[in-house]
Amino acid sequence: MNEKKYPSVIISGLGISGLITASLLCKEKIKVECFEPVDISKFHEDQRTTAFLNPAIEVFKEIGVWEQIEPFSQPLKEMEIIDAGSKKKIGPARVIFKPKEVNIDNFGYNVPNNILRLELLGWLKKNQNFVLNIGESIANHYAFDDNILVRTSKGKELNGKLLISCEGKNSAIRKREKINTIKTSYNQLAMVFQVSHSKKHNDRTTEILDVGGPFTIIPLRNSSKQSKSTVVWMDNSDVINEAYNLENAEFNTLLSKKSLGIRGNIKLVGKRQKWWVSSQLSKTLISKRTVLIAESAHVMPPTGAQGLNTSVEDIITLHNICKKALKNNEDIGADRVLKQYNRKRLPLTGSKVFGIHLLNKISMTENSFLKIARENFLMYLNRSPLLRRTLIKAGLGR
Ligand SMILES: Cc1cc2nc3c(=O)[nH]c(=O)nc-3n(C[C@H](O)[C@H](O)[C@H](O)COP(=O)(O)OP(=O)(O)OC[C@H]3O[C@@H](n4cnc5c(N)ncnc54)[C@H](O)[C@@H]3O)c2cc1C
Repeated sequence: MNEKKYPSVIISGLGISGLITASLLCKEKIKVECFEPVDISKFHEDQRTTAFLNPAIEVFKEIGVWEQIEPFSQPLKEMEIIDAGSKKKIGPARVIFKPKEVNIDNFGYNVPNNILRLELLGWLKKNQNFVLNIGESIANHYAFDDNILVRTSKGKELNGKLLISCEGKNSAIRKREKINTIKTSYNQLAMVFQVSHSKKHNDRTTEILDVGGPFTIIPLRNSSKQSKSTVVWMDNSDVINEAYNLENAEFNTLLSKKSLGIRGNIKLVGKRQKWWVSSQLSKTLISKRTVLIAESAHVMPPTGAQGLNTSVEDIITLHNICKKALKNNEDIGADRVLKQYNRKRLPLTGSKVFGIHLLNKISMTENSFLKIARENFLMYLNRSPLLRRTLIKAGLGR
């Protein structure tokens, strides 16, 4: 019998993007060897949730993990934006986007990061094409014409057809390949925490714009009570650091003020976590037998739910290119194949990083002219279904 020989791929970094990439490639019978230096039993400490748009949900269905994740995932049915700084007599300027306006049932789902990681890792561990190396990283790599050789921090050597960096924003592979980045910092932190509230969220996400950055309340799934949400509060680093150190009672008083009472009596549940906000774009997404995926390639502020969703688009593109190459008996790490990925993804990720950078600048502005323009734009959106539909489609990447 003429048995087909499947290539092997090496993935460095097993965050959510590494897990999704590994799962899709294992499904193609590719042998996937992964390296993750950090103890993955700490995965459950990530309190973040990710607002995944529908293309990502389709990927979870394709892998076969959606049935397990869905019971913990909250459908995102409405998106409301409120301008807290506006001085209109009728109250703050606000606009509500509904999925029905573009003929869909919901914008996506809010999925807890820890559940997603657990399910993807569980799925991978059952797959015979998956090899996991925890507490080990890639110390060096050498690309040749027909394979790539890696040497690990524990002295192991192995080779494959393709090396994929899913190492996050400080990718060591990217640095070794001397791929430059364009970077912007905002002196801004994002604080993430969960809250309980007395008013139902009614499946609605609310983004409150003020100075310093948005305060976004994203609904969580919790039986029929609809009384829990995740908050992502982006603000000047001094403001966030001060709020981070407050006692719970004082913090809750601040939360009532920040949330404008829209979810009623609001209270912190659990811990607060904070992250620096930045934008970053790699000047290229490939080098010889090497590909950059997700935050190794692009970083954007956590506004507009674009970060991981853009990463999922990278992964879908790479998966399709690899599938086609395998079908045509081509080498999946060849220059010709990787150039397709760079051509398809670089312009799109560039425009997304730039778009989210502008959105963040507008949401954190203290400039009174821009604040008035922002407020008037929200008021105008209420009167323009066409513009609302255009913006919804842009946000969904359609
Ligand atoms: C507060 C906040 C809220 C967000 N909300 C959303 C949202 O609602 N929707 C959305 O789409 N996006 C969101 N994002 C963005 C999203 O979280 C990131 O895009 C995503 O976590 C990046 O995933 P990643 O796998 O690329 O990187 P990471 O999660 O950083 O994973 C990288 C992995 O690589 C490992 N690693 C590091 N160095 C090495 C090395 N040298 N060798 C091997 N492994 C290495 C790390 O240990 C880690 O496990 C949010 C981000 C933040 C900060």
